[in-house]
Amino acid sequence: MQKYYVCPECQGHLMVGDYIILSAKNRQDKRGLLLLHPEIGNYSSIKHPSFKFTAGDPIDFYCPMCQHYLQSRFDKNLVHVIMIDKDRKEYDVYFSRIAGEKSTYQVAGDKTVSATGEHSHRYTYFKIPEELKKYLQK
Ligand SMILES: [Zn+2]
Repeated sequence: MQKYYVCPECQGHLMVGDYIILSAKNRQDKRGLLLLHPEIGNYSSIKHPSFKFTAGDPIDFYCPMCQHYLQSRFDKNLVHVIMIDKDRKEYDVYFSRIAGEKSTYQVAGDKTVSATGEHSHRYTYFKIPEELKKYLQK
């Protein structure tokens, strides 16, 4: 079994064929579908040419089934989906909603498994080890 992606709200399958399909809304409030590559660190995407955005634009991502807004609970610029790997292990996957910004994080429980992409330093809380977080909260 290969890995797959599900919506954190309705658990519906987001990956069909070779791509993750998400409903999106651009800066001009136009809606479109985006096909994202399921491989972490691969930022290629497919869309209809009528759905336009430019680098730096914030994109809103929604589940195409339940319309849940896929915003992470700790940063409005990170999109949250669930990835289940071939061993049925569940991960939270976060990626930037800013067009052209390459940052993806794979998280298992409280532990960051990987931070990928040339802009991944922008969301630094994923880099802080658990042992140090308790000192920051004081
Ligand atoms: Zn959903």
